Amino acid sequence: MEKIKKKKLTMWPAIVHAKCPKCRVGDIYTKPIYSLIGQKIHDHCPHCGLTYEREPGYFYAAMYVSYAFIVAELVTLAVATSILTGSDNPWLYIIILLGVVGLLAPFNLRYSKVILLHWLTPGLHYHPELNKPLHD
Ligand SMILES: [Zn+2]
Repeated sequence: MEKIKKKKLTMWPAIVHAKCPKCRVGDIYTKPIYSLIGQKIHDHCPHCGLTYEREPGYFYAAMYVSYAFIVAELVTLAVATSILTGSDNPWLYIIILLGVVGLLAPFNLRYSKVILLHWLTPGLHYHPELNKPLHD
């Protein structure tokens, strides 16, 4: 019991580890972030039973979060490339930006949905009473 108490997650670790926004115990995804099989979301939280897809097409809203991620990444990369290389060659920028955004695509996909669930879903809040083991 003492060991489990230490595992209670605060908001940021729950987001980083893609845990359920209601209980912060159950995993949102079935596989790790860079799994070759793909990223699949559990239908329900394995711990508290929360339905992750709140309504049909709910995760389309994650596109807006993903768009914000990609814009932030592209601007940061373009500025960093300009400062570090000082190059005016557009192909250098295209290769670097597309390569890095391609590598970050699984990150963007995963965390856009996690942030949608944790921060942008009205009426979905953390319930600390659910953050305990099932056999209690
Ligand atoms: Zn849960």
